[in-house]
Amino acid sequence: MKLHSTRNLNEIKNPKDAIIKGLSDDGGLYCPKYEDIIAHKFNIKDLLSNNYTDTAKLIFTIFFDDFIDKEIEACINASYNKNNFDVANNNIAPITKLGNNFLMELYHGPTSAFKDVALTILPQFLTTAYKSKGENKKVYILTATSGDTGKAALSGFKDVENVSITVFYPTDGVSNIQKLQMQTSEGNNVSVVAVKGDFDDCQRLVKEIYTDADIKKICNENNVVLSSANSINIGRLVPQIVYYIQSYIDLVNENCIKLNDEINFVVPTGNFGDILAGYIAKLLGTPINKLICASNDNKVLTDFINTGMYDKNRELYKTISPSMDILVSSNLERLLFLLSGNDDKLVKELMDDLNEKGIYKVSDNLLLKIKESFVAYYASQDECKKTIKETFEKDGRIIDPHTAVAYNCLKKYLSSNHDNISKKSESEKPAVVLSTASPYKFARDVLKCISEDNIDALDDFTCLDKLNELTKEPIPKNLSKLKTKEKRFDTTLDYSESKNYVVNNIKND
Ligand SMILES: *Cc1c(COP(=O)(O)O)cnc(C)c1O
Repeated sequence: MKLHSTRNLNEIKNPKDAIIKGLSDDGGLYCPKYEDIIAHKFNIKDLLSNNYTDTAKLIFTIFFDDFIDKEIEACINASYNKNNFDVANNNIAPITKLGNNFLMELYHGPTSAFKDVALTILPQFLTTAYKSKGENKKVYILTATSGDTGKAALSGFKDVENVSITVFYPTDGVSNIQKLQMQTSEGNNVSVVAVKGDFDDCQRLVKEIYTDADIKKICNENNVVLSSANSINIGRLVPQIVYYIQSYIDLVNENCIKLNDEINFVVPTGNFGDILAGYIAKLLGTPINKLICASNDNKVLTDFINTGMYDKNRELYKTISPSMDILVSSNLERLLFLLSGNDDKLVKELMDDLNEKGIYKVSDNLLLKIKESFVAYYASQDECKKTIKETFEKDGRIIDPHTAVAYNCLKKYLSSNHDNISKKSESEKPAVVLSTASPYKFARDVLKCISEDNIDALDDFTCLDKLNELTKEPIPKNLSKLKTKEKRFDTTLDYSESKNYVVNNIKND
């Protein structure tokens, strides 16, 4: 599978090199061509006997075709196992009922967020790719996080040979538990820095460092290659395709849907990585009707998908779904590439507009293509809170704020279609809501929505216990353990200092 820079078709890498490199030097993201994806279209009927591991193997064999079967199997076995995922039969994305629809529980991994699905296996892909190069360089991973990627990456790369990792999180943004998860990280090759600013600052910082000529020189002199654990890395994106396909297979096998019935997926979206993986699953032949893009008050994507105008010139709101507090959704660039027929010139133009003016507009034709597969809604902070409460009271389930944003958007999608007879059958298609985090990760905010008590007076761990009394679901061990863990990282830096910090790390490696 040839992977092209979205900003220059002639910049091509094989999968192993693209995984090592992360981001292209021209700032583009590595992506297959549209027709190269379609060429691997399957008939879902042929996959019905697949379990999660089988489907993972199929997808990795398609997209990472310079890995041999044995390598892929080893990567899967080292990641999707009982040590990492607290699930039955290694089905790491179990489906449960949510009212008349379904919930895909993606939060049973080592850090209780869906990012574990990709970040348990990315280190395996990266080290496997690296070993087969036979080079003697150290890989230095820089990662910007809006809360969940950071811990998942720190956990995945902990003590991985020849790799070190620094995570940047925004001082304004992550939840207490998320911060504590990162600050208590173990491993001799990890570091964590709070950057004064928001997530977009962190993401810009990392992208700037990758494309900085001076830093590149310093890397060469010190035998270091930079890479990324963010969803700009194709090694992050591809593992997420698997659960869309597998959930469809599971729903058919459990007689919840009939073979070839189309279903909708509702995806709480930030950087557009998760939902883009759903789109690729659709291109590959999964019977998907619509991908419902759910945003919180930072509704850049809702506006874009409805109008064709992407405008990041707006205030970034801090919400209780911090992993979606994002104004620059990096993976949208890959969608524009795919839907424009791999038009690298256009993508570069739009991304230059975004960098220079903070705004771009796509043609009506391109917008139409987007709307064939996507619809978009957003949930305000109040609506999110109300949804958590209602879901607890009516459906008997406790969901995290990101999942609540998605569920609220599903309800909006359903009611918007109700007055339109021809669309009515559309809206009755079953929907799967992607549940991207354990409610325990946001225990305080969730508790505030469902309890009459004064929560503000409680500490975070009392919040976990109280939530446990209400849900009766066990507290994930990685979260209850935080209470007694040593805080190892307490550094806060300015944007400019952060670059120097990285340079020093490269020199001292
Ligand atoms: C990262 C994250 C999201 C958003 O996923 P994207 O791939 O960035 O769109 C949603 N919910 C949670 C809990 C997350 O950690």
